[in-house]
Amino acid sequence: MNKEQVLEILKSINYPGFSRDIVSFGMISSLEIEDRSITVELKITSQNEEKKRAVGLSIESALKKTGEFNQVEITHVQPQSAPVKTGQTQGVEPASPLAGIKYIIAVASGKGGVGKSTVAANIALALKQKDYSVGLLDLDIYGPSLPIILGINSQPELTSQKKLKPIEQYGLKVMSFGFISGNETPVIWRGPMVSRMTEQFFRDVEWGKLDYLILDLPPGTGDIQLTLTQKLKLDGAIMVTTPQDIALADVRKGADMFRKVQAPVIGVIENMSGFQIEGKIDGDIKSLKLTVMDKEIPLDKFGKFNFKMDLFKRGGGKNESKRLNVPLLAEIPFDRAIMETTDMGEPMVIKYPQSPITEIYGNIAARIVDILEN
Ligand code: ADP
Repeated sequence: MNKEQVLEILKSINYPGFSRDIVSFGMISSLEIEDRSITVELKITSQNEEKKRAVGLSIESALKKTGEFNQVEITHVQPQSAPVKTGQTQGVEPASPLAGIKYIIAVASGKGGVGKSTVAANIALALKQKDYSVGLLDLDIYGPSLPIILGINSQPELTSQKKLKPIEQYGLKVMSFGFISGNETPVIWRGPMVSRMTEQFFRDVEWGKLDYLILDLPPGTGDIQLTLTQKLKLDGAIMVTTPQDIALADVRKGADMFRKVQAPVIGVIENMSGFQIEGKIDGDIKSLKLTVMDKEIPLDKFGKFNFKMDLFKRGGGKNESKRLNVPLLAEIPFDRAIMETTDMGEPMVIKYPQSPITEIYGNIAARIVDILEN
């Protein structure tokens, strides 16, 4: 059996918690075959030892099952070229300022206006509601909107050690490009600055102990985003999209970018996906039939109806997530309350904790926890 055939077999093994296989994740660093013994060298950036062990066991079992090998050895290498959790140049910094942060998750989108920041803020709040300690870092240089979404008017303070203290809002620790650069700073100048500023956010911000740090990335999949994702060791990335094709093409580029820097894409969220319509018809409903765009809408015995109308072509998120081999984490409908709460500075999870939309954000948070911690 040659290396290619072995790799084919290893492609059937998914990384635990992901629907993507270990080969396409780039986790096989080398293969050595000698007669009937094989050594598989793994390069896994995760710090989850249990998952690493599970991958090793699956490989061993799959290769032994072929009957071609009587000795399977699994070794692990520390990814030399992987970015470190310091936001600094690799391998120099023993006391990482991010050492107290368990997981870093980036929320990205192919273009602006798809609701990335709104999603990032609500996911952070949903994680907080599950009693995790959560930080939210707004790196959106083009339009840092988290201060608005979270209703923050103050500026961060400096500690006695000249470190920036994140602003505490709704139990989250928040830091934003908007606090520092000011909205008047020309975008053309912010671009080259972003990488330096990001390092500073990690070196000079006192995050303390956090279970999750959620990053609101600048929209797009260009150089700025690539530099950011290369600098940080991301534990996962979430792509937000709207159902239109053009947005989806951009998501594809985003997923490819994360693959390049070996950051696992946790899933795709389709935002503004359809429109929930609720209402009531009065009269003798036994003889009434409601049809909208050729589809019959069921009425309950009180004449009430509730259905989702698609604004764009249906199922873009679903198709795309299948193609990328990552789960579709959620389809969040277009909802006026989302817009209103965002503009008011009091996101859905805070303002309407019992709403179905808040439940969707809660489910996304639960999936993230499930994927990263189990
Ligand atoms: P991005 O970060 O992608 O630029 P924002 O999160 O700033 O996008 O959202 C853009 C606008 O869309 C905001 O006014 C926000 O309130 C609104 N919005 C986001 N998600 C939804 C939704 N599901 N339904 C209705 N409005 C939404």
